[in-house]
Amino acid sequence: MSKQKKEKPVFGTKEWARYNENCIAGCANDCRYCYAKSMAIRFGRKTPDTWGSEVIDTKKLTKRFNKRDGRIMFPTTHDITPNNLNVIMTFLENILKAGNEVLIVSKPHPDCIEDITRRFVEFREQIMFRFTIGSCNNDVLRFWDQNAPGFEERLASLSYAFGAGFKTSVSCEPLLDNQADGLISMLYPYVNDAIWIGKANKLTSRLKINGHDDPETIRKAEALIESQSDDYIMDLYERHKSDTRIKWKDSVKKVVGIYMPVISGLDI
Ligand code: SF4
Repeated sequence: MSKQKKEKPVFGTKEWARYNENCIAGCANDCRYCYAKSMAIRFGRKTPDTWGSEVIDTKKLTKRFNKRDGRIMFPTTHDITPNNLNVIMTFLENILKAGNEVLIVSKPHPDCIEDITRRFVEFREQIMFRFTIGSCNNDVLRFWDQNAPGFEERLASLSYAFGAGFKTSVSCEPLLDNQADGLISMLYPYVNDAIWIGKANKLTSRLKINGHDDPETIRKAEALIESQSDDYIMDLYERHKSDTRIKWKDSVKKVVGIYMPVISGLDI
């Protein structure tokens, strides 16, 4: 008798979208915990020192897209910054013109978001923004996200996209402290889709690969992991579980024991 294969739960970007697209290698933000950086180093495409230098994949800029049967997340291994905005616009237009739905993920610069919303207003129904905001404390953001915009700029971007009538959501993954309730209440007025909460995954091993194994970073990482204990996560979940606008990433789902989808892109 043949055994039926147990389907594996989806995690990471696959929880949000069926497809990933990128047009740049490396990311100027150089977040300490970056998963994309650790993978690029593991597979020899980048080193800890070269990750911050962005290299445009020029071939991608002329890529012709067809309409896909699911949402495309863009970008997933770099960000959108004033320095690469022209490239981003070209690539994004090609995706949108084919009729695709796009999840635009960024630690956003307000100027970039204003330009994107103005240029792509006719594609508004195909776009959902998902801004990564792991803390409202700028000292925390500056430490972990290094070169990315501060909290006020990210909040201003969220508020702008919301006011311009776009679908807005936030990724608090990785959550960079244990002040999630305060963060949620500051973001909530500008979110018409969802706020996702997730822990930092495999933090210390990624930091080591990414060249951030100095004692200060490791000490802060261990303190962060400890502050996001199962008890903290359970309590947080209990306080927000009836709010359909708060969603939980795989790292939280595992702790609280809720359904983990096995199909990619369901965004649940
Ligand atoms: S913004 Fe994203 S891709 Fe860029 S370094 Fe940070 S985590 Fe990595």
